[in-house]
Amino acid sequence: MIKENLHIVHEKIAQAAEKSGRKPDEITLVAVSKTEPIRVIEEAISLGVTDFGENKAQEFRDKYEILDDKVTWHFIGHLQTNKVKYVVGKAEFIHSVDSVKLAEEINDRAEKLGVKQKILLELNTSGEESKFGIRNEEELLKIAEFVKDAPALDLQGLMTMAPFTSDGKLIRNSFVALRKAKENLEAKGFSLQHLSMGMTNDYEIAIEEGATIVRIGTAIFGERDYSKKWNEK
Ligand SMILES: *Cc1c(COP(=O)(O)O)cnc(C)c1O
Repeated sequence: MIKENLHIVHEKIAQAAEKSGRKPDEITLVAVSKTEPIRVIEEAISLGVTDFGENKAQEFRDKYEILDDKVTWHFIGHLQTNKVKYVVGKAEFIHSVDSVKLAEEINDRAEKLGVKQKILLELNTSGEESKFGIRNEEELLKIAEFVKDAPALDLQGLMTMAPFTSDGKLIRNSFVALRKAKENLEAKGFSLQHLSMGMTNDYEIAIEEGATIVRIGTAIFGERDYSKKWNEK
């Protein structure tokens, strides 16, 4: 099933890219493997998937212990400062930095390890209270300035989650807001490569609006099963 699903996802990525005059290879597919057991991740690896996303620090730490840097890891979930040690230096990208305090903690840990940590800043573009992320431009600039001067941080781009809705217009507004935020920072001299946006329900719209990283779980692995832990499946 994963094989067929991946085929469909790759096709749709290519179509969305083409529709907006982009090349499919400008877009990195991150397979969101949260809740999935190791054997499922290994199946995806055998089918050519190179990038995986996890959103829980402990689950990530434990999976990393098993799979190590056999794959490129993306940490995409809310990160508490006391769990930074589980993630820094292991995840290639941390997508969810949304405060100076968290950035500071990641920088300190990365300095200790002697690594440069690639990060993205997470913006709340939906206005939804339940979502994390930076909520206004002033705050974004403050965090971006901090990151620029932090010796062990490498600011790579911005990340967002669209609102949970079937209204395509609202979803698109979110992605446009992220793209504009990137353009504003670039106008202020920041250089950013990535827009991490688009999940199972909206990745085609995200690609049309400039996504360079899409984070897709359900469309690849099927509905998530929360009845058992990943290591009990
Ligand atoms: C779970 C998750 C995804 C993937 O969601 P799907 O709808 O299953 O594709 C993407 N991004 C983040 C931050 C997630 O937590």
